[in-house]
Amino acid sequence: MTHTSIPFDNSYAQLAPAFFTAQEPLPVTSPALVAINRPLADDLGMTLGEDAELARIFAGNLLPEGAEPLAQVYAGHQFGGFSPQLGDGRAVLLGEVVDKGGARRDLQLKGSGRTPYSRGGDGRAWLGPVLREYVLSEAMHALGIPTTRALAAVRTGDIVYRQEGGLPGAVLTRVAASHLRVGTFQYFAARRDTGALQRLLDYASARHYPGAPEPGAFLRAVIARQAKLVAQWMGAGFIHGVMNTDNTSISGETIDYGPCAFMDAYAPDQVYSSIDRQGRYAYSNQGHVIVWNMAQLASALVPLMPDEDAAVADFTHAVHAMPAMIEAEWLRVFGAKIGLGAPSEDDRALIEDLLALMAESGADFTNTFRALGHGTAEAQFSDPARFAAWQARWHARLETEEGWRARMEATNPAIIPRNHHIEEMIAAAVAGDDAPFHRLLGVLAYPYQEQADAEFLTHPPAPEEIVRQTFCGT
Ligand code: AMP
Ligand code: MG
Repeated sequence: MTHTSIPFDNSYAQLAPAFFTAQEPLPVTSPALVAINRPLADDLGMTLGEDAELARIFAGNLLPEGAEPLAQVYAGHQFGGFSPQLGDGRAVLLGEVVDKGGARRDLQLKGSGRTPYSRGGDGRAWLGPVLREYVLSEAMHALGIPTTRALAAVRTGDIVYRQEGGLPGAVLTRVAASHLRVGTFQYFAARRDTGALQRLLDYASARHYPGAPEPGAFLRAVIARQAKLVAQWMGAGFIHGVMNTDNTSISGETIDYGPCAFMDAYAPDQVYSSIDRQGRYAYSNQGHVIVWNMAQLASALVPLMPDEDAAVADFTHAVHAMPAMIEAEWLRVFGAKIGLGAPSEDDRALIEDLLALMAESGADFTNTFRALGHGTAEAQFSDPARFAAWQARWHARLETEEGWRARMEATNPAIIPRNHHIEEMIAAAVAGDDAPFHRLLGVLAYPYQEQADAEFLTHPPAPEEIVRQTFCGT
């Protein structure tokens, strides 16, 4: 019988005690495997044993050899208000592996029980958010957008109590380039622990930006990655939903899938999160928020500079340059969505005019861009004459463009994880039927392909199916 093995090679656990608390996952009653991501496990150099053993490992009941479980500490601005201490309240880092491509990756259990950072929470997760994060993060990866990955999902056999009542408990195993957040820097900056802050910078730059060991270069490197990421989210119609600084990764990966959503009908001010009453994290606000978050990272790095006034001036400059970077990335992303390989500033109006027509019409974001390339988008628009006029301008622009059709096929997904399908999948899983989960996962692995047997997944919600709110699930 083959046993599971994970080639752990832990570095974070070697940092000073100020960075974490050693914490084992707390056992659950009866672990049952829902999913294991075999291709990812292979990339990580793992050997997989039998399902029962995998279930025990990824429920936290069996600690694999080489794991050094710990809860990381961090701080963060939540909806603009600063919390000086957050941390892994329902997660533990099992350890790290260096994958087959040479990249260091974290393995984290989420929903693994209380830690010193749990505050009032139970440290647990229920099946809904676990499967939601599994499907959304894997879909994001298949779309080609940097993200944490899902390695495993396990039912715990325990009941978790939430507003909705008693719900089946679950644990997600997530893989990340690291779990370093803007909030990790803020934690040490707020405590004026410049020794630890410097140690963190050294660690983070060595791990993610080896060419940028100085605070200013590091800040600029993170800004560049985040500018790109947010433009990619926009291009996919993705709304993160909780862009708090503790949910903004240093590596530039999408992290912490809470009340996030891919939009159906295009509405720039769209918000799904039940806790975002002001629309702080609305679709079209994400570019502003990420700049604000990078300003918080900049502030946290200032104490590392010998001349703080000069640092403030320099970092302010870096942060102020970010909106233009996002605009440039946005133009590249949306240019490609209408087939343009090298969009220029002159093309911006063409894209914006299309989006304005889409917003007026409540056009389906995903299906409109996909249909444009097929010449069948007209049905999405409430005013066919104005769309025809736009299309004539677009066609004229395409005359000087090579390979636009293939570019659009590779840029505009046919299938995204739609909220109503996610909700249906969760309801089925709660009732014991995991088939919709596995089906969604299978189809979303190939988002740029038309899949005849999954055509129903391209349908926007009927009026009674529209999901208006999504929840954190905490
Ligand atoms: P989030 O915005 O969902 O990433 O969570 C913000 C903070 O709340 C983090 O420090 C989490 O660890 C903590 N948290 C969320 N849910 C729970 C829970 N069920 N039990 C304990 N802590 C939690
Ligand atoms: Mg978080």
